[in-house]
Amino acid sequence: MDFYQQYDAHLSADERDHVATARAFCAGAFSESVLAAHMAGEAFPEKWITEWAALGMLGLQAKRAHGGLEASYLCKIRVAQEMARHGFAAAFCLNHHQGGATRLSQTGTPIQIERLMQPALRGELLLTTAMTEPAGGSDVSALTTTAVLVDGGWALSGTKAWMTDGLLVGGLIVLARVGDAAGAGDIASFYVPFGEAETVKRSEIVVPGARSFRLAEVTFDAHFIPEWCLIAAPGAALKASMTSVNAARVHVAAMCIATLHAALSEAVDYCEGRQAFGKALTGHQGLRWELAEVSVRLEAANSLVFRAAEQIQTGGNPVALAAQAKKFAVDTALWGIDQCVRIVGATGASAAHRLNMHFAEVRMAAYADGTNEMLLDRVGRGLSTTYPKSIP
Ligand SMILES: Cc1cc2nc3c(=O)[nH]c(=O)nc-3n(C[C@H](O)[C@H](O)[C@H](O)COP(=O)(O)OP(=O)(O)OC[C@H]3O[C@@H](n4cnc5c(N)ncnc54)[C@H](O)[C@@H]3O)c2cc1C
Repeated sequence: MDFYQQYDAHLSADERDHVATARAFCAGAFSESVLAAHMAGEAFPEKWITEWAALGMLGLQAKRAHGGLEASYLCKIRVAQEMARHGFAAAFCLNHHQGGATRLSQTGTPIQIERLMQPALRGELLLTTAMTEPAGGSDVSALTTTAVLVDGGWALSGTKAWMTDGLLVGGLIVLARVGDAAGAGDIASFYVPFGEAETVKRSEIVVPGARSFRLAEVTFDAHFIPEWCLIAAPGAALKASMTSVNAARVHVAAMCIATLHAALSEAVDYCEGRQAFGKALTGHQGLRWELAEVSVRLEAANSLVFRAAEQIQTGGNPVALAAQAKKFAVDTALWGIDQCVRIVGATGASAAHRLNMHFAEVRMAAYADGTNEMLLDRVGRGLSTTYPKSIP
């Protein structure tokens, strides 16, 4: 059975076509280009974003009425997995932008959709959600960026850190305190398109081996936000942002699974082709068992992630299960890819080897959309509800 069969069985014929399109795109020149960028210590070329957008992939879940494909959550996962097999960071970024376009389509006001939707679908306006600040990301309620009321809108000041594709994005979905300059008000959220505005400065956060995330700090200095850009009113933004966090966590988990699956396949193929002591590496029981152990944990993680994904697909919002799935998938992927890097011998440590890239990029999944401690905290707080003494 195909590793992805249980996901694909839930897809419509159109959705299976989207997955096939993604598979063909990612397995071609894109794959080599992403690896070449990793070897050179650079981010993958921007042209792939335009080409991905031209396939309609940034509008994968946007409404048809807005030019989207209106695909399901499981389809979104499968498309992301196809890319994550070749480059986790590229998949993470492009799916982040796809999520921004989906949110705009599903909850935007008519004027927001009229002004922002088409540029977002074409990849000209990439919208990253901006919560984290230099002083911290886990405790979003402590953010200090301010939006001070001015004539016709707000003046935004403050710095957002670790912005996905922050070097490229033409706008952010910003969470900020609405109030005076001291920053004492309630938190609201806004679409903040800024292009090359002089009131916005960015600087790269350089992460060796993972520059394809194009992570950046973005600083606003009294940047004007027009009234029509408001998303969630003061006091409502945190809850609005958190409603989609479980889906995002499972989505990241599913990409980790795909990257580990690709890493294991690559390691098995390499070990079957390389000889030591007169036979293929996989002919040595000790090494074969190590690869088998990776496969055992991969299958276990995949089952957990699929269970969580299936619940989201059918309208659920599983808090504990999503946190468990993300934590286990990230930990398993990091452990498993590291095993593969080691098992193939010294070549795995070379930047020219995709296993090396997979490890450096998946490493970053441990922070985004909830650190392990925050995930365990979510699970821990619901233990008596999730595991009651008597089953109802
Ligand atoms: C690749 C990547 C992409 C990202 N993209 C975005 C993005 O697009 N938008 C965005 O807003 N942010 C983004 N982030 C930031 C990410 O959300 C934060 O890194 C994350 O929320 C953690 O915040 P922090 O790094 O500031 O760590 P901190 O919040 O400072 O935490 C530091 C350590 O303390 C632990 N800790 C904190 N509180 C507790 C507690 N109560 N109990 C136990 N331990 C605790 C944490 O788990 C962590 O180990 C991205 C990060 C990465 C790596």
